[in-house]
Amino acid sequence: MQDLMTQTIKITKVAQSKAREVDFHNIVMGTRFSDHMFICDYQNGEWQNPRIEPLAMIPTHPAAMALHYGQAIFEGMKATLGKDGTPLLFRPDENAKRMNFSANRMGMPFFPEDLFVEALKQFVAIEKEWIPTQDGSALYLRPFMYADEPFIGMRAATSFKFIVMASPAGPFFHKKIKLYAEKKYVRAVNGGTGEAKAAGNYAGAIRPTEHAKTKGYDQVLWLDAQHFDYIQEVGTMNIFFKIGGKFITPDLSGSILAGITRMSVIDILRDKGYEVTERPITLTEIIEASKNGTLEEAFGAGTAVGIARIEEIGNKDLSIKFPSENPVSDMIADTLEGIKTQEIEDKFGWLVAAK
Ligand code: PMP
Repeated sequence: MQDLMTQTIKITKVAQSKAREVDFHNIVMGTRFSDHMFICDYQNGEWQNPRIEPLAMIPTHPAAMALHYGQAIFEGMKATLGKDGTPLLFRPDENAKRMNFSANRMGMPFFPEDLFVEALKQFVAIEKEWIPTQDGSALYLRPFMYADEPFIGMRAATSFKFIVMASPAGPFFHKKIKLYAEKKYVRAVNGGTGEAKAAGNYAGAIRPTEHAKTKGYDQVLWLDAQHFDYIQEVGTMNIFFKIGGKFITPDLSGSILAGITRMSVIDILRDKGYEVTERPITLTEIIEASKNGTLEEAFGAGTAVGIARIEEIGNKDLSIKFPSENPVSDMIADTLEGIKTQEIEDKFGWLVAAK
């Protein structure tokens, strides 16, 4: 088998970039796509033909297995511009690893991690003009893999596509969020697929999220399936609480996605001298902390939004209100953003230049 890294990535560029037609001050994330995509095919037991080419439709057989059995996984990451205009990736090696963790869980082939990072570097260097420059904005990158083999029957597919595409994301309006403590539906269970970034996890979350929105909440607070008390995640973010001066976040117990923002926040907090404990956390204990006045701050952490301050957790029987000041959450948000744009020194060595 030929070593993929010895194959060069074949590059075919568009005649004219559409980046100049885009009003980067008014972009809704996920609605505009950059000029190109990276694409690689898995066939006969190996990844083949890595290439960057103009973004285009991909003919799909109606029996493509991803459409029926859901062998589909994805990643989410962002590219920013450094002080000297160099495109930067944030911890892409971690996304590469998580993609393969997901691939393993879903019976899909591993994608070489060094090729994942190399493909992203070359792709982002080509799409540099698509990286928005306003504060808090970035080029959202979406690596994904799906089974494209036409076959009806329950088994692992034998042919897949790995693709990276990009969509510019404007600065998020940092509205505080209200969470609906969901006691009927669950996102994941131990032994299920919640630890993987599998497309089906998101399909199952859509109806409960819509329901929470109709009730006036922004996101679902996911609880465990047995007790409906252990806090898992919020929407598509991990969650942190500050209680009595210390931080806690749910441990990665088998049903929680290991967020790259989560692991970065833990490092930043510890570096700033805060104690952070990863352990099971119940809603009951958050209610208790709220009653005894020790509940200080809470936020969601994820690539798309960064740090989302939480103002309330509720449902028909419950309303936990958080103090209106979020000094440490604000500091974390600024530190993360500052590192990504090189306003703050990257002392952890998280940035990878795409050139
Ligand atoms: N949990 C879920 C379910 C998610 O989809 C995401 C977004 N990838 C996260 C947490 C946060 O992960 P990250 O910080 O790597 O974006």
